[in-house]
Amino acid sequence: MKIIIEGIHANLRFSAAHMIPEHETCGVIHGHSYIVNVEVEGEPTGKHGFIVDFKDVKGIMRRICKRLDHRLLVPLKSPLMDVQVSDEEVEFQVADKKYKIPKEDCCLLPIESTSAEGLAKYFAKKLYKELKEYNKMIKNVKVCVNEGIGQGAIFTYPGVDRI
Ligand SMILES: [Zn+2]
Repeated sequence: MKIIIEGIHANLRFSAAHMIPEHETCGVIHGHSYIVNVEVEGEPTGKHGFIVDFKDVKGIMRRICKRLDHRLLVPLKSPLMDVQVSDEEVEFQVADKKYKIPKEDCCLLPIESTSAEGLAKYFAKKLYKELKEYNKMIKNVKVCVNEGIGQGAIFTYPGVDRI
């Protein structure tokens, strides 16, 4: 069984800037108003017969959205960006382009790319780890990160076949 939360109605949204290094059009810093949808698959349990309380899922997702909101998303594991972080600044270079951004304007993420795919994977892993503490019967979570309405990437963690 599954529960579903649609971010456009449940207010799972954030606005952020990013760029896709060396991409022809997305290689410049630009922004999106992201909308995040969630599915949680598992067996209902406990005295209320919930897979997990909607409120708990929304709470976790909103906390992650808030961390990314109104920031430049910086992927720390990008093979195309050499990211240096000091107390006050984040510096990186992509080919000949050099960037120096105040650290408070950035959200540093332990991912390879801030593509919709990379962000979906980041959200799904974080959500699964937190939800598993509530209910051991959760099989997986599926997160869709939409870059605006009508285009998004879906990642299921830890995968559909594993429990
Ligand atoms: Zn983009």
